Amino acid sequence: MRHAALSGPRFFRFSNLIDAALMAAAGERRREPQRQDFVREPAGDDAAAHRQDVGIVVLTRKPRGKEVVAERRADAGDLVRRDLFALSATAEHDAALRAPVGDRPADVDADRRIVDHFFAVRAVIVDSVPECRERLLQMFFQREARVIGANRYSHGQRLYYVREMIPSVVISARGEERLRDGHPWIYRADVADVRAQAGDVVLVRGPRARALGHALYSDRSQIALRMIAYGAADNDLDADALIRRRLDAAIAFRTSLAIDATAYRLVHGEAELLPSLIVDKYGDYLVVQALSQAMDRRLPAIVSALSDLLHPRGILARNDPRARTLEGLEQRVDVLAGEIPETVTVTEVGIEYDVDLRRGQKTGLFLDQRENRAAAAQYARGRLLDAFSYNGGFALVLGRRCQETIAIDVSEDAVARVRQNATRNGVAVDARVGNVFDELRGMERLRERFDTIVLDPPAFAKNKAAVVNARAGYKEINLRALKLLNPGGTLGTCSCSYHVNEADFAEIVYDAAIDAQAHVTVVEKRMQGRDHPVLLGVPETYYLKCFILRKLP
Ligand code: SAH
Repeated sequence: MRHAALSGPRFFRFSNLIDAALMAAAGERRREPQRQDFVREPAGDDAAAHRQDVGIVVLTRKPRGKEVVAERRADAGDLVRRDLFALSATAEHDAALRAPVGDRPADVDADRRIVDHFFAVRAVIVDSVPECRERLLQMFFQREARVIGANRYSHGQRLYYVREMIPSVVISARGEERLRDGHPWIYRADVADVRAQAGDVVLVRGPRARALGHALYSDRSQIALRMIAYGAADNDLDADALIRRRLDAAIAFRTSLAIDATAYRLVHGEAELLPSLIVDKYGDYLVVQALSQAMDRRLPAIVSALSDLLHPRGILARNDPRARTLEGLEQRVDVLAGEIPETVTVTEVGIEYDVDLRRGQKTGLFLDQRENRAAAAQYARGRLLDAFSYNGGFALVLGRRCQETIAIDVSEDAVARVRQNATRNGVAVDARVGNVFDELRGMERLRERFDTIVLDPPAFAKNKAAVVNARAGYKEINLRALKLLNPGGTLGTCSCSYHVNEADFAEIVYDAAIDAQAHVTVVEKRMQGRDHPVLLGVPETYYLKCFILRKLP
């Protein structure tokens, strides 16, 4: 049905019509136009072949219908930007072109047309095709100004080229620069033109129409595009196949890490070139988060790929992070495959945990701290304080080496879990519900002392505006902790605020040390675990800082 609807009396030889530049532009598409793509070659000679008037008309699905094409006075530059061929020739006339219907003169009802002085170089177009995923655009090139010009009589002598419309977005020069620097996000302010719908995988073009790659498109978020593939090589991108390959690679990498746990992150979004997708493994179960419109739309394909690759007993979507609302997506928790029990038991660094995948924080556990728990354990001794303990990750791993362990969290549920996990693992933990800020001050008044302290607060700076207060908060708890620490003791201090970077955090801790009148050495600088890798050039993927400090005697 591709060409069937198109017919016309005589056509030019397309070798005359299509010049090298045009062919080069066409080559950027998913494939070069082939001889057979042009409907009917001309019989006879093309006497007007030297003329460089090239018009272009986009017809929608119904090529004989009225919904034809280019708008009067449309910006010619758009033609090049909008997923249509760049044209190289110019027209001398203000050629008003009406939609030809068969051999009849222009359809009188056609209300859109190409009208442009120079529509060849500064061309045009336009469409009003509502369903861009489905639309099949048919373009025809027409030569001979006379025909498409003055007399508005456009029968014959046309070439048609048929292809599918690829959803596409044009970005600004600044956006292109960002991409070149390796950042996969393009903000809305750097989007110049959109030919796509919410959640499409789009072809991304630079301001000069150069294909830059493919991205997930969001019509809501300030992050309008998230790149998933770079370069022009593969215009006809099979996004599901690409995602599947990336999932496979991500999983293979985790397997190679020989992680000492049955729970860990399999897919860390941007750092996997799978932006806005998180997949965590908890034993035989998987938890996914799709944090953009396009990833959300692709969940069925993701679930099917994960099922094939890992054969999990169940896949849960923890699609309840607030970030989803920025995408206009619902916050919800759904079982996507198999079944998910109320509690799943996993082990990590020799400790067993009962995890509530549906209701636990993040996807159930703070998997990103696994290696920091193991590292901090090497220094743990004497009296241990785990502040902001959640369900006891640090308290349990470090507590095995300590005489006494106190864990504090403001959440009663979390503290109940600490107690449960402590019993299960045979580690004595005094788990308390409390506000760490108050508790630290109270302990200072009571002149309590510890040999090992862990500070693992929630992100104090959730956005830039919160940084000033966040700094004060971090400084406060670090100051108190350093005062409570015995000389020779160890402080493991963390920040998971992306907006407070490593240097900022080091400075805050240094300030705290000065105020605490302590000489402090940095024994280890750590970050999130290896299953949460950082993508260079994308600071957002480096969020967790963890310093292991020693208070000098
Ligand atoms: N250390 C934990 C993760 C901590 S997440 C682990 O390794 O798994 C941060 C925790 O801080 C959450 O459990 C939250 O309930 C708790 N929290 C937040 N504000 C608090 C406060 N002011 N006082 C005590 N706990 C707090």
